Amino acid sequence: MQMSDIIVVGAGVVGSAIAFGLAKRHHRVVVLDGDRADFRASRANFGLVWVQGKGEGLPAYQSITQKSALDWSDFARQLKDVVETPLALEQDGGLIYCLSDDEWDARLSKNQRLAEQQPNRNSDTEMLDRASLERMLPNVELGPEVVGASFGHLDGAANPLELLCGLHGAIVRLGGRIEFQSPVKFIRPTSEGFEVHSGTETYAASKIVLAAGLSTSELALSLEMNIPLRPQRGQIIVTERLGRILHLPGSGLRQTREGTIMIGATHEDVGFNVETSSEAAAQLSRRATRILPALKDATIVRQWSGLRVLSPDGYPIYAQSSRYPGAFSASCHSGITLAAFHANELADAISRTSLDGMFEAFTPERFDVQERA
Ligand SMILES: Cc1cc2nc3c(=O)[nH]c(=O)nc-3n(C[C@H](O)[C@H](O)[C@H](O)COP(=O)(O)OP(=O)(O)OC[C@H]3O[C@@H](n4cnc5c(N)ncnc54)[C@H](O)[C@@H]3O)c2cc1C
Repeated sequence: MQMSDIIVVGAGVVGSAIAFGLAKRHHRVVVLDGDRADFRASRANFGLVWVQGKGEGLPAYQSITQKSALDWSDFARQLKDVVETPLALEQDGGLIYCLSDDEWDARLSKNQRLAEQQPNRNSDTEMLDRASLERMLPNVELGPEVVGASFGHLDGAANPLELLCGLHGAIVRLGGRIEFQSPVKFIRPTSEGFEVHSGTETYAASKIVLAAGLSTSELALSLEMNIPLRPQRGQIIVTERLGRILHLPGSGLRQTREGTIMIGATHEDVGFNVETSSEAAAQLSRRATRILPALKDATIVRQWSGLRVLSPDGYPIYAQSSRYPGAFSASCHSGITLAAFHANELADAISRTSLDGMFEAFTPERFDVQERA
């Protein structure tokens, strides 16, 4: 039997950020990860640290997203202190391009509604007309349809694979363990905590955190937790390396440090299907070239798809089992953006065995209320 203080199930960016935060708080952490064939959003995403446009109808989500984005550079520094490799974070703001007056009006209204949710806070988003956008992107030739953009001051982008790798390295350096290829088969609550069986090994700890992406729903049943999640496919295409064109990331269009341009992602409700399609590539390319006509000459060198981990309202679910205190679950879309929040506030709450205060807005019980209404 392998003993530790806390078992984290899932070594994606959510489980790894939590495990990093717990290891920093001097807990003995074991992270168990699944099979090669598992769905892994953490290796298929767009890498944005993104605030603007998020949280309508749930101000608590707006707040934790802002907090995480504000804390991201410090979080990256904390990681670097442990693993000694800097994370590439660009956070000088981000753009959502508007390709018609209707898109502009819809974006403006959304920004206004989000600002009204936080009357005591200055908005971190502003609308830029075309002339202002051209001044912000002096070397970019925008397509004629671009009427402007929404600019989010807190937005940015990171390299998601570097982040994941950095988190894994940091967990180990802080004395934690990560067992890859150790899919959890079943979990048994005991009088001391929890026993977890991976098929070949048994692990025991006083706490457990389920952060297994889309598999969390099924694993949570053994802890009498109902975590409703569904997949949503996102396809991304990537161009060859180009000279520096875009120094600001955009929602759906960003240039990596290496020069490739990432274009994406689609939103497709196709269940657990991770195929890619030429229709998606065409749809993504069409919009990208309307924004940046120069991309017409760029070669697409890669295309992939990943499955978003979505709750019924699209917002995170953070839960502690009422039947088995000490058993937690964490699932969200935007695991890159929320990495700082997961390593700081969420790890702290798990350490205290209490998801109180800001976490109360994110329990799965909110869906029971919606169902009854
Ligand atoms: C196309 C796309 C674009 C995105 N863009 C962004 C973005 O720009 N910014 C942003 O913030 N977010 C973005 N996201 C969302 C982000 O990628 C996810 O929120 C995040 O990766 C979820 O991480 P996770 O650790 O919960 O899940 P996953 O990455 O899916 O990891 C789950 C892990 O659990 C393991 N596992 C599963 N079952 C078991 C088991 N039984 N036992 C042990 N381990 C198990 C798996 O092996 C896997 O490693 C995007 C997602 C997609 C799909």
